[in-house]
Amino acid sequence: KKIMAHRDAVEGDIHAYLSTSDKAALETAARVDEKIAKGEKISDLAGIPGAIKDNMCIKGETCTAASKMLEHWVSPYDATVIEKLKKEDFISLGKTNMDEFAMGSSTERSAFGPSRNPWNTDYVPGGSSGGSAAAVAATEAIWSLGSDTGGSIRQPASFNGIVGLKPTYGLVSRYGLLAFASSLDQIGPLTKDVTDAAIVLNAIAGHDERDSTSIPQEKKDYRKALVRDVKGMRIGVPKEFFGKGIKPETKEAIDKALAFYEKEGAEIVDVSIPHINSGVSVYYIIAPAEASSNLARYDGVSYGFRAEGKDIIDMYIKTRSQGFGEEVKRRIMLGNYVLSAGYYDAYYLKALKVRTLLKQEFDEAFKKCDVIAAPSASGTSFKFGAFSDPLSLYMEDICTVPVNLIGAPSISIPVGFKDDLPLGMQLIGRTLGEETILQAAYTFE
Ligand code: GLN
Repeated sequence: KKIMAHRDAVEGDIHAYLSTSDKAALETAARVDEKIAKGEKISDLAGIPGAIKDNMCIKGETCTAASKMLEHWVSPYDATVIEKLKKEDFISLGKTNMDEFAMGSSTERSAFGPSRNPWNTDYVPGGSSGGSAAAVAATEAIWSLGSDTGGSIRQPASFNGIVGLKPTYGLVSRYGLLAFASSLDQIGPLTKDVTDAAIVLNAIAGHDERDSTSIPQEKKDYRKALVRDVKGMRIGVPKEFFGKGIKPETKEAIDKALAFYEKEGAEIVDVSIPHINSGVSVYYIIAPAEASSNLARYDGVSYGFRAEGKDIIDMYIKTRSQGFGEEVKRRIMLGNYVLSAGYYDAYYLKALKVRTLLKQEFDEAFKKCDVIAAPSASGTSFKFGAFSDPLSLYMEDICTVPVNLIGAPSISIPVGFKDDLPLGMQLIGRTLGEETILQAAYTFE
């Protein structure tokens, strides 16, 4: 109730939430209290108030993806992550704001108005999971779930001075996550510290046969990785991640973190990933291509919004023209273009080849190191409206998108400030190397 009251007091400034679910939250809290009173064992997450990005389905609640298209759509089922969290008696205080269909880096693309950065409300909270990050940073929730297709957990975590973990592709089920780019999407936690990230990951990770890309694996306890020790750990620093777009303050903060690791007994090694700079180009071909296919289902027939039309074709056109925002339409057009017969080989196929090359380069680098350190973003958060053209905002994703293209896990942790705004560093691991990056992150904290 205290967190709810605090949320209600600050929400006018932050706008982290699109909807709230206090009745269900209080019912769960009462159930947890009863269990405690009876001396029953409760899980780590039981009764701890969280928030869920509004692109994950909770039965009986709206799931809008911050789009007019789904403004009134109520999910008839639970996403796998929600099913798992319900088993832990989790509490959701509501669904959080985001860029429409997770396309964006600032929440300025939400159809329902942006969220604001709690450190300074003139600044964006990042995106697309900006509401989830702002909610945790402003203590409107203790933890939250976000989704990361090209950085949407890590970049907002960085802008809000909190921890954001994108797990290995396939570690967490995508069943019930509204698809953006299916080969890149991954759900993960945003938390105040690394311990909480491990606790939430424990609850949501695991094989799910309803997601064909889910990895069959043994259940792990990620809390066991929370050991303050990096002796002998090799931390790779690819120079290509520190190119001219990266602000000096970011580099300085990461250098300090690396000096700390060295002092603690880690070995800092130079590695090279020459195709890092192609990451944005490759991502902005593959992600829109997959999005154009995934978003074809929003045609006014099965889900959500429907515009009146004089016949069915006219209804499709009007529904999609009025239901989608500008950025979503841009991605659909881009996606259809790169997949069209005349351009498939020149763009989509070529992008897939560079994606493979990038994976090979990371594999090579991981022969020389256990973890790769990189900026989570070029600098701190930026002011609303700072990027007037879409392309320059796309370029801001340079640090995060390569990780989704190779499917690796990565955790963003706070490493410093510039002008009272937080800076973040990501620690990238090998496939299923969550324990190593959690250990490295925990040691720094
Ligand atoms: N900013 C990137 C985009 O606009 C990444 C978004 C995401 O990870 N969902 O596509």
